[in-house]
Order: sequence, then C-alpha cells, then structure tokens
Amino acid sequence: MVHRLSGSFAMVILANFAATLACDVNLEALFEPYMSPGTLIAEANDANFSDVASPRWSEWNSPTWTGAIKPETVQDLQNIVRIASAHNISFMATNGGHGTSIIYGTVTGVDINLENFDTIKVDLENNHLIVGAGVKLGNITEPLYNAGKAVPRGNSPCVGMIGATVGGGIGFETGLYGLSIDALESVRLVTAKGDLITVSDNQHPDLMWAIRGAGANFGIITEATFRMSDQPNNGNAVVGSFIYNSSRTLDVFEELQTLDDILPAELGVQLGISYDRTTSESLLTVDMKHFGTWETFQPHWNTAIRLGYTSATVKNVTLVELFANLDGPCQSGVYINGGTVGLGRTDPQTMQEVFEEMTEFYKNYPGYEGETLFQRYANNKTLETPLSTAVYPWRDTKTFWLHENIYTEPALEEPSIRLLLSLREKLQATSGFSEPHIYINYAYGDEGPEGWWGKANLAKLRKLKAKWDPKNLFGHGTPIFS
Ligand SMILES: Cc1cc2nc3c(=O)[nH]c(=O)nc-3n(C[C@H](O)[C@H](O)[C@H](O)COP(=O)(O)OP(=O)(O)OC[C@H]3O[C@@H](n4cnc5c(N)ncnc54)[C@H](O)[C@@H]3O)c2cc1C
Repeated sequence: MVHRLSGSFAMVILANFAATLACDVNLEALFEPYMSPGTLIAEANDANFSDVASPRWSEWNSPTWTGAIKPETVQDLQNIVRIASAHNISFMATNGGHGTSIIYGTVTGVDINLENFDTIKVDLENNHLIVGAGVKLGNITEPLYNAGKAVPRGNSPCVGMIGATVGGGIGFETGLYGLSIDALESVRLVTAKGDLITVSDNQHPDLMWAIRGAGANFGIITEATFRMSDQPNNGNAVVGSFIYNSSRTLDVFEELQTLDDILPAELGVQLGISYDRTTSESLLTVDMKHFGTWETFQPHWNTAIRLGYTSATVKNVTLVELFANLDGPCQSGVYINGGTVGLGRTDPQTMQEVFEEMTEFYKNYPGYEGETLFQRYANNKTLETPLSTAVYPWRDTKTFWLHENIYTEPALEEPSIRLLLSLREKLQATSGFSEPHIYINYAYGDEGPEGWWGKANLAKLRKLKAKWDPKNLFGHGTPIFS
C-alpha cells in the first residue's frame, strides 16, 4: 500500500511510531507506506541497492550503508526524517557523493539519495539561480552560460552544488565573485522535526549564519537560491597549462609569492605536483584560468615563458568548455584520500620542500600516483563579505592546499597518510596563520571543529545545533561536538 502522509495525520502516525521503537528495522515495511510511488527503497544487500544509493566518489573510508532511500518528493523527505528520527535510525543525505574524510568511515545508516531533486531555475527577473538538492556543479554551467550569468561555485562537475556550498564553495571564479555562500540568499530546509522552512538573512538569520559553512549539520536543504552576477568576458576565457621540471620549480614558487597581494581577480591559478613514471621525474603543472581576453592573458603567458616551461597548452574556451574539462569523467568508486590546510602567504622554500618530499615518496613507492595541489584564488572579493555573515571563518586564506593520495596497494595506506600529515605540518608552519585554517570540504578529518569553523565560532554554533538538531540527526561527516 502506498499513500501520502501529511499535516496532523503525520503527527498521529509518528506518535505511534515513537511508541513502537524497533531495533531491527525492515526499511520497506517502515517507510514505504508513507512514500510516493516513485520513491525507491533498498536494503544494503538488495540487488538494486546501487541503483538507489548515491554513487560515492572514493571508496576510502566510505560509510557503511544499511540501506538507501531515494525520495521522489520533498514531502517524502520530510516523512523520512520524521520516521527515522522516531525510530532512532541513523541516516545521511547525499548527492554528489564527493564528501570524504576519516570520519565518513565511521558513519553507518541509511543513505538518503537526493538525486531526484534536480531542478534548475534561472530567474532573470529576480536575478536568482534556484537549484534543487540533486543538482551537480556540472548541471548549472550551461543554464548560466545561456543566460549570460555566473554564480560563485566549485570546479568539479560531479560535485553536488549544495554539498559544496554548505562548506563554503571555492573555485576558479572565487577571485571574481567570492564564495558560493556569499551568493547564497536563502534555502528551503527540512529540519530535524521534519518541517520545511525557509532560511535567509531575514528568516532565522542565526541558522542562515550556520548554514553558510556548516550547512550539512542542520537539516536537509531541498532547494537553494543564489544571487547571480553577470558572467565574465561574455562567457569566454583563456586557459593555459604549463609544465615545469624540477630545475624550475623554486623560480615558479618565488613568482607565485610576488602575486601574494596582487593576484588579479580574473586569474585563477592551480599548481599541481605529480610524477611521470616513464621519465621518472616529478613535474609541476601550472594551470591558469583567465576570465579575460587573449590580450590580457599575454602578460601571464610571458611570465610562464620566462620561467622556462618544458611544454605548454594555451587556448580560448567558452565557460562551458572550461568547466566541462575540469575533472575528467565523473568517476566513482576510486580509492583516494586527502587533506588540506589554508595558506595566508606563499613560502617558496616550503613549497620546494614539499616538491622534494613528494619526489622522494614517488621514488620510494612505485605504486603511488597521488598529487598535491595549490589552489590560488584572489581573496579580495571574499574579504568584502563580513565575517559575521557566516560560520565559515577562513576568508583570509589565499591558497588552498589540497593533497590527494592515490594508490591501490593496501601497503601504501600507512606511508601515504604519513606523507599527507608531514606535508600538512610543514605548510601549516609557514602558512602565516597560528590557528590552522582547514577548509572543511577538503578536510582529512582529524582537525576537529576548531580547525573547520574557528574557535571563536564554536559556542554559537553548538548552541544552534542544540536548538535545531538536538538528536544529532545531521552532519555525521562533520560533527560539531567532536
Ligand atoms: C574531486 C573533487 C573535487 C572537488 N572540487 C571542489 C571545488 O572545486 N570546490 C569546493 O568548494 N569543493 C570541492 N570539493 C569538495 C566538495 O565540495 C565536498 O566534498 C562536498 O561535501 C561534496 O558534496 P557532494 O554533494 O558531492 O557530496 P556528498 O558526499 O553527497 O555530501 C557531502 C556532505 O554534504 C551534505 N549534503 C549534501 N547535500 C546536502 C543538502 N542538500 N542539504 C544538506 N546537506 C547536504 C551531506 O550530508 C554530506 O555531509 C571537491 C571534492 C572532490 C572529491
């Protein structure tokens, strides 16, 4: 039997549920009577489980799902939260499946797959982009491009738009538009009580503050409304990729240092250290995304030439092409772990030491294919938004260091984690920050709430958590009380 649950009827049913708590639950028997016909439910050992659960980007330390539910409607989602809460069933709402850290490995429960909420609306009259919970970053590129608009956003097409936003939201356009949370005007949120509320700077402003940086911990966002800007350079950009060998790396790092206070807003830069196993040498790849013309890119290209690259690719692209090519295919089930620390200054010597430690590691462990990235986005625009608007605390971060360990041999697990922690310690020491600045979306997971949200924010954040999610239903991947 399938029928809808609504209003006060829902409360009566839930009172009954609460009175008959079950330990060993049959998900279909419990949830299906209150779901729409299109909602899918599977136990972890059901043949169709993988059709119901969200695909996960990395299998490293992934949650242990006992089952999955893919709701069809927002009301289904509300009922899922109410029923799960009444039965003490742990769950996590997921979309892009790119969330990863050591903490995800401790998560057990039901995966709530948000994929069906995939609506995208470009509202030109109100200058809004409105996205559903199932929208991935790659889905918004064309609608925005066709409308001549932009929203600050992450880079990788398969990452969830709301998943990335609730931690901050950084990407190549950060220099131009700031963080995704800075353009986030309001959300529709399913709360711990199963209510559907609007949260904005006018409605529940404290909760809006918490959603901008800790949004996974306060409910399930069904829809998010972003303020749009005009897209840069009529939707065109110049992308340059320059490869340097070990004899040039210190010069490149020193050049980056000269840009510490003057990186142009329209230039996003990513430096990546990787290893070529055919030539047995480490490489430094400098990727530039320039939201301007060929002519305005020329000085950056001249600098790249002066620094002595071994190979280069430079081309004009549309923004659709730029974002489509950022993450390769939307892979899932890979085995990757990573970590981060934010840098407030460039220390060329430390970066060179990172390059050398990576090189040593590649040589010692032939099965290792990891990489280390320095994502440098101008933060002047980010700093224009007052700290008080969001729990996200690290607006003074200039470079986001992101390390990714990639390997298949289990024996590489322990040394590669040691490498990550050693590099992080080195970079933190010369970051210019006494308090570690950890971008929560890239966290390894051992940094704790102070590292993710800053010491000064914790009392307020915890008070809000106790008010809005007293049973701790949400945010098991980034716990506020850990
Ligand atoms: C390859 C790769 C590239 C990345 N690139 C970027 C980037 O360029 N910029 C950037 O800022 N970040 C980036 N990230 C980090 C990414 O933003 C975070 O991992 C983010 O949490 C992923 O969201 P998701 O929906 O894909 O993942 P999921 O695993 O589905 O969700 C992650 C977390 O967000 C919560 N969540 C998801 N949707 C909702 C919702 N609707 N309401 C409430 N909570 C929700 C989940 O409950 C979970 O806690 C990248 C990560 C990877 C692995």
